[in-house]
Order: sequence, then C-alpha cells, then structure tokens
Amino acid sequence: MISCQGIKIVHPPTEEDLQVMAREAIMVFVAAGGPDDPACSIGEKLHDDCRIVSEIVAVTPDLAYDVSMQVLASGFDNVFSLSELKRPDFRKIINNKICKGRVRLRGRMQDEEYQRFRAALDVSPDAFIVFDENNRLFFVSEHYRRAYPHHAGRLARGLPVAEAYEMLCGEHGVHAGHPDYAPLKTFWHSLEGQIEFTDSTGRTVRVSAGKMPDGRGTIVSTTDITEYRRQQTLLESRSLELADALKKEQEAGAIQKQFIDMVSHEFRTPLTIIDGNAQHLQRRAEKTAPEEIVRRSKTIRSAVGRVIQLMDGLLSSSMVHTGRMEIIKEDLDLGGLVRQLVGEYQDLDKGHEFVITQENLPEAVRLDRKVTTLILSNLLANAVKYTKDQPRIGVYAGRRNGHIVLRVEDNGVGIPPDEQQAVFKRFYRATTSAGTPGTGIGLNLARELVELQGGRITLESDLGKGSRFTVELPASES
Ligand code: ADP
Repeated sequence: MISCQGIKIVHPPTEEDLQVMAREAIMVFVAAGGPDDPACSIGEKLHDDCRIVSEIVAVTPDLAYDVSMQVLASGFDNVFSLSELKRPDFRKIINNKICKGRVRLRGRMQDEEYQRFRAALDVSPDAFIVFDENNRLFFVSEHYRRAYPHHAGRLARGLPVAEAYEMLCGEHGVHAGHPDYAPLKTFWHSLEGQIEFTDSTGRTVRVSAGKMPDGRGTIVSTTDITEYRRQQTLLESRSLELADALKKEQEAGAIQKQFIDMVSHEFRTPLTIIDGNAQHLQRRAEKTAPEEIVRRSKTIRSAVGRVIQLMDGLLSSSMVHTGRMEIIKEDLDLGGLVRQLVGEYQDLDKGHEFVITQENLPEAVRLDRKVTTLILSNLLANAVKYTKDQPRIGVYAGRRNGHIVLRVEDNGVGIPPDEQQAVFKRFYRATTSAGTPGTGIGLNLARELVELQGGRITLESDLGKGSRFTVELPASES
C-alpha cells in the first residue's frame, strides 16, 4: 500500500540486520500485536541507538486507545493501527514524514562527515585552521591550538582571517619590520598557495592554503619544517661532499694512471741509454778509443744516477705519505754536504757553472742527513735540468735570524706566475717543463720534507729568466 518510488520495503532477517538498515532508513515499521508482544522491545532497542534518526513506527491491530498508548510508550515514535494504514489520506501523512525524515537523515550524515573530517584533521601532524566562504574562522584543529597555545582561547568561530593572521604573527615573533611580515600578510589576504618563513626562534614554518570545493571556504595548514629543511640541507651538503669525493677519486685515478705512464717512461729512458752504451762497448770493445770509453761510461753513470734519484724520490715520497719517514737529527756539516752534492753534479760534466756561497754557517747543525740530501739534490737536479743555455747555478747555505737557509737559483726556463704554487703539488709539471723528463714528485717531496722539520720552502721565478728556491729550516746548533 505504501510502496512507491523511493520507498523500499525490506524484511531484515535478524534484529542486528534491522539495526544496521535502520541507520540508513527514514522510517522503520514494526508489527506489534500489543504491549506484551516481544516485537515492542525492538522499538526500545532502535530508540536507544543514537545513530538512528529514522522514525520508529509500530503497526498494531485495532487496539483500544490505552493499549495503543502502552505500545507507543515501549519506545516507538508513533503507532498506527492497520485500519489507519488503510485510510486514503495515510499516503499524505507518510509523505510528510518521509520529507522530514530525509532532512533528519541528511543532517545526521553531514554531522558524521564533519566528525570524520575533524578526526582526520586531528590526527594529521599538520595544524589546520578552516575559514568559511566569508573568510571567518570555522574550524581549528587540536594540533593548531597546541601550536598556538597563547591564542588558543581566542580562536573562536567567526573570527576574521586578519585577526587569525595577527595571532599567528604574534606567536612566531614576526612583527612589522620582519622580512617575512609583508609577504605573510599578502598570503593571508589572498589565502592561496604556499609560503615559508623563519620565525624569531629560528624555526622554519610552511603555511599552505587550499580552497574547498564549491567555494565553501579555505583550509589553511601550518607545518613546522625546520627538521625537514635541516635534513634537506644536510643531504645537499652530503651529496655535494659525495660528488666532490667522487670527483677527487676520479682525478686521483687519472693522476695515478698518468703517474704510472710517466714513471715507466722515466725508468725506460735511462735504462735504454745504459743498455745502448753497454752494448756498444761489448760489441766494439777492442776498437773503442779510451776517450770514447770514458765518455760512454760517464753517460752510463749519469743514467744510473738518474735511476737512483728516481727510485729515491719514489721511495721517500711513499714513506712521507705513509708516515714512515722519520727525522733523525745528527751533527751535520752542512757546508760540506752542499759542496759534496754540487761536486757530484759537476762530475757529470754537463757544462753547468756552480757558485757556492756560505754565510755564517756553524761547523755542525742538527739536521737529518738523508732528508737534507733529498731536499738539496732535488733542487739541484731541477736547476740543472731546467737550465740549458749558459747555465749558471747559485747555491747558498747560511744561517739567518735563527734559521738555516738553503737557496738554489738558476738562469733557466723559469715558471709561469700562475703555475708557481701548483709546482709544489704532487705530479704537477709546469708548462715550461715540456720536453724535459720528470715525474712531478721532486718539489712536492722537498716541500713535505721541509715541512716535516717545521720549515718552509718558497719560490721566486721569472719566466724565461730563471728560478730561485729558498728553504728555511729551524736552526739548532750542536
Ligand atoms: P719534475 O720531475 O717534473 O722535475 P718536480 O716536482 O721536481 O718534478 O718539479 C715540478 C715542476 O716544477 C717541474 O716539472 C717543472 O715544471 C717545475 N720546476 C721545478 N724546478 C724548476 C726549475 N729550477 N726551473 C724551472 N722549472 C722548474
């Protein structure tokens, strides 16, 4: 009789099913024979379920008024007898009830939606504040209240957005004059997009605004991103460090390869010279004039000297780098050592002129012989190597201002100004060394050995005119 469009009549199999369905229904009809019918308890149960907004109606046989009231009192919202149901105007009554019921149901659904929305906002780690279509405060999440404890009490419904903005600024110590004050004001005025600012305590805060559908208002979230930014900066610097380390590693690999090529070439050249001359002497021993034997022997000795120097350099460099180079001081006749080393180069007879100057030098100074020899012979070898035309090499050894000073200067090719610092780097060879054999180890080794003793090495050079290397070592007499 009451079945029509939009009205569904169902017969739930159990009371539980009925209860679930009743939550979605506008009206529930329960057939009850009288006040003693167990069906009356259904009315009570449904009545007690606060999620049910449907009208619970008892349908009874025609009962006396009193009895009908007893049925109603057992928990129903209304009682209709079967004969009332058959009345022609009953449809109208039901329609009215359905209209009202629909409004009730919609209201309950909206309420549930709001509760869910609230719960979702409350569990979010961000602080939310919602403004209605008139930019007046509509909702504040618990998190927001906790984030702004000094103003939490004033965050009431209806508060204009401008006041909410002032509160936020006050709580973050962002006042007129603060660089973020004006941009924040513009943001809160438009309530669109996203803004980040750093407050007076150094915290970085991100505020995002998003319009709700159908122009129902704006939802604004505030997030403390200090830690995020810190981690981001850390990550950026770590990745820069990593990229840097990778670059260095690649450079080191390339340098190592270049070094191995260079060293093998450096060894091969003197060994080829030695072998070539030895073969010549072997094959033509009888026919070789004594002067030629002397000349070839000199060449062989010079090449052997080069190999020894190379090996010494490589070995000492690796010892310095692995921390195995020990400084063992002894009473050293520095003047004697200088003369001896210069003498060795003179013996090679390559036409270099050496001038030794000695000044204020005590008989013996406390220095490591091996280390001092390495420093000096590297400087001398370079002076000889890089000075080809009318070579003149000055060697100075003296004591000045409490320091031992050793200086080797030449009139050779010189070093371009922009390369003068780099020549002390391991494996670096200046552009002016092109065509001259070398490994780029000597000067780096010399500098490290000087520094190992607390001294320093400096360079002055004029391109095309010559170079001057000065070593200063802390002096202690024996
Ligand atoms: P190398 O084995 O190449 O000589 P060093 O480490 O001894 O290596 O020197 C590094 C670079 O410094 C050389 O390749 C050269 O370019 C430059 N250099 C060193 N000493 C002199 C010098 N007396 N005159 C000109 N250039 C020099």
